Amino acid sequence: MTVAGSGDAFGSGGRFQTCIAIGTQTLVDCGATSLTALRQQSLDPNEIRTIVITHLHGDHFGGLPFLILDGQFRRRTEDLTIVGPPGTQARLTTAMETLYPGSSQVRRRFAVHIHEHADRRTRQIEGLRITPYEVRHASGAPAYAVRVQTPERTVTYSGDTEWTDALLDAADGADLFLCEGYSLTPIRWHLDLDTLAKHRNALTCRELILTHLSPTALQADLSDWRVAYDGLRLPRQAR
Ligand SMILES: [Zn+2]
Ligand SMILES: [Zn+2]
Repeated sequence: MTVAGSGDAFGSGGRFQTCIAIGTQTLVDCGATSLTALRQQSLDPNEIRTIVITHLHGDHFGGLPFLILDGQFRRRTEDLTIVGPPGTQARLTTAMETLYPGSSQVRRRFAVHIHEHADRRTRQIEGLRITPYEVRHASGAPAYAVRVQTPERTVTYSGDTEWTDALLDAADGADLFLCEGYSLTPIRWHLDLDTLAKHRNALTCRELILTHLSPTALQADLSDWRVAYDGLRLPRQAR
């Protein structure tokens, strides 16, 4: 997998917004900057078949209009499946019409299928097992951590959230838990390193890597933690 975007909403540290590629055909989140982030990692947006969205904030789903339009202009023919929170269809249509009026109604060579998360209900798509866990983050719709199982690996991403014990379940036994490490001390709707450190021993994931860091966290001494960066590939020799 490739962490194409490891940043917060505001480009802190010069990092792209959240975009995690699992193999070359699956994304977890697609922030507004994700088309650029994918191209920087030599990943072709037209190859993406499935996009899992944690929550409906621009730095997590705002890249979808660009990815869909890019597919239209570059003659994509393979359907795209998006799995996101309840309300994803309406929010995507609104975003497309705001950015490019008329773009949501265009006939294309490919279909965009949208499915909605239901808390802790596993969905199987294209050989993946995708399980959402509702978390605590205000975004006009429920927000989720997501657990994605491939035949080789289980990856959990926290999305944005305050601490909730749902993260223990979402990351239980996962090979990798990519976890928000936004701030150093508690802040509403986001996860801080003080709180995460208190729960770290209860997490049963094999590896925990921080992502979505604030400017303050980026400048702190994080030698106790492993921190993602744009272009991080895991396991190291493979995507
Ligand atoms: Zn965010
Ligand atoms: Zn958010």
